[in-house]
Amino acid sequence: MPQPLNRPMIDLRRVTKTYQAGSGPVTVLNDVTLIVEPGEFVSVMGPSGSGKSTLLNMIAGIDRPTSGEVYVTDQAVHRLGQDRLAIWRGRSIGVIFQFFQLLPTLTVIENVMLPMDFGNVFKRRERKVRALRLLEQVGIAAQARKLPSALSGGEQQRAAIARALAADPPLILADEPTGNLDSHTAEAMFDLFQQLAAQGKTLFVVTHDAGLSAHAQRMIRLRDGCLESDDLAQPEDRGNGHRQVQHERDLAQSLA
Ligand code: ADP
Ligand code: MG
Repeated sequence: MPQPLNRPMIDLRRVTKTYQAGSGPVTVLNDVTLIVEPGEFVSVMGPSGSGKSTLLNMIAGIDRPTSGEVYVTDQAVHRLGQDRLAIWRGRSIGVIFQFFQLLPTLTVIENVMLPMDFGNVFKRRERKVRALRLLEQVGIAAQARKLPSALSGGEQQRAAIARALAADPPLILADEPTGNLDSHTAEAMFDLFQQLAAQGKTLFVVTHDAGLSAHAQRMIRLRDGCLESDDLAQPEDRGNGHRQVQHERDLAQSLA
């Protein structure tokens, strides 16, 4: 069922996360309120320890807030039980981690098929074809039958991206996706993210990389668990407006 256009993709309301440390409670996210519309490409920057990964984990439902509410794709993620959370996550979000987290005993194509099997999306006989097409898209179809350990870091990251896209989720979350890549491979990754944004995916990318951040249309900065800045673009440049602009650019390019 199509979502009403005016519903946010991510809607965080006064999210606070406190850990109990030996020396007492430590507040890692402090009253974060944030809305991301469908189709936005958001980069999240901030010093190490500022809460970036914790914020991403809240959105993915990997971690729960101490207080506040987390709505993603219209789901109250903070209230979902483990089983429903796993199903929702499988269908709604693709996560790309810094260290890829491919399953070492499965081949690359099996890794990519996993989210489709898990989320029970696409017909069984279509899954392998789709996985191969995604591997072609990220340029590593020739490595499909290999184990992840036989691939370079850049190739493993490409495989992780293909896996994140497998179930065709509307939202892609990435935590320092270029942290382990050389600058050339990182640049190719930026282009890929930009293509995804142009296709209408919502991207929420934690990064230290100013190059990657420059590709995003919106940059959020965290400091000590607080939103330090949010350079929100003008409303007409956001969400569907952005897609429209991108589409027009693509069209202009293809006609040039
Ligand atoms: P970033 O991704 O911006 O580097 P994180 O979100 O990983 O920051 O962590 C923010 C802070 O929360 C850090 O000081 C970290 O030590 C602390 N932290 C993260 N997870 C836990 C945990 N499970 N228990 C206690 N402290 C944690
Ligand atoms: Mg982190």
